[in-house]
Amino acid sequence: MSANDLLIRMQQGDRLALARLMTLVEARPPEIYRIMSQVARMAKGAPRLGITGPPGAGKSTVIDGLIRLLRSQHKTVGAVAIDPSSPFSGGAVLGDRVRMQDHSIDPGVFIRSLGSRGSHGGISRATMEVALLLDAFGMDEILIETVGVGQTELDIMGIANTTVVVLVPEAGDTVQTLKAGLMEIGDIFVVNKADRDGADRMAAELRAMVEISPSPKEWAAPVLLTSAREGKGLEELLEAVMSHRRHLADRPETEAFRRNYLKRQFLEIILAELCLRLDSTPEIEIIARQILSGAEDPYAAAAELLSDPSRLAQFLRLRDKQ
Ligand code: GDP
Repeated sequence: MSANDLLIRMQQGDRLALARLMTLVEARPPEIYRIMSQVARMAKGAPRLGITGPPGAGKSTVIDGLIRLLRSQHKTVGAVAIDPSSPFSGGAVLGDRVRMQDHSIDPGVFIRSLGSRGSHGGISRATMEVALLLDAFGMDEILIETVGVGQTELDIMGIANTTVVVLVPEAGDTVQTLKAGLMEIGDIFVVNKADRDGADRMAAELRAMVEISPSPKEWAAPVLLTSAREGKGLEELLEAVMSHRRHLADRPETEAFRRNYLKRQFLEIILAELCLRLDSTPEIEIIARQILSGAEDPYAAAAELLSDPSRLAQFLRLRDKQ
């Protein structure tokens, strides 16, 4: 089936076509630009909600509960799960988790997992593009799950309009060591597993941190308690998300966020393509060998290449003239 057929079918609501377009995003054939350019024009701008936190905090359980709630409000939901440490891709991780299977027969829900493999190092680009496809498919809400609270999450969370950080009552140490980053990431904090001891204390600690941290966004991040396994607190969480969206709608920096997002999207697209092209030249192997032998080092080799536009242009010749 041609890419055009896939696009037409996707617009008609064909999930298989959507899945195949997502595979193309990861495989990155040369015609991806033409395809994604059409997808970008189809997208309606669905809000993107990021959910992050350490492994085991209950992110998938929270997402599962949010999907249920959104579905009860007749909203359709697309979800992307990113696990940079996972070699799996192609919808195998989150979609395989038992409780997520309930949604796999629901035509109003589409879940896709992205691993590090196959995305050509451009995990944030792949995430943006999968989210864009879900948007173009017509999903009302896009959820983005990512594991951990680190640099990758910071990058990925730049993609979300609202970011929820999920922690557990025992995460005190994590919070202390990640203080600055955490505060920067979270628009809403959730202490999940509130059925366990220490949840109130943890929430109080987080509230104290929110209070003292400067808020350039003029948004005081709420700290909520949930017990996702029992479905408790999720309605309040969704209400907080909506409230953050209303806050954003009134803020002048929302346009700056959007401009930054589009700029990043543009840079990510270029970066991914440059890496692909460089990586497919025989010259790169020669350079790698020179570095290995000690005749070159990566910085000098990079500086040398960047200072020689004609050599660089030769490197970057179209990998497949269309
Ligand atoms: P993730 O790795 O952050 O996606 O975490 P999961 O959603 O897979 O949850 C990890 C474990 O915590 C699972 O065994 C869940 O059943 C459990 N869990 C999730 N939410 C709660 C909760 O509210 N209370 C308790 N006690 N366990 C929970």
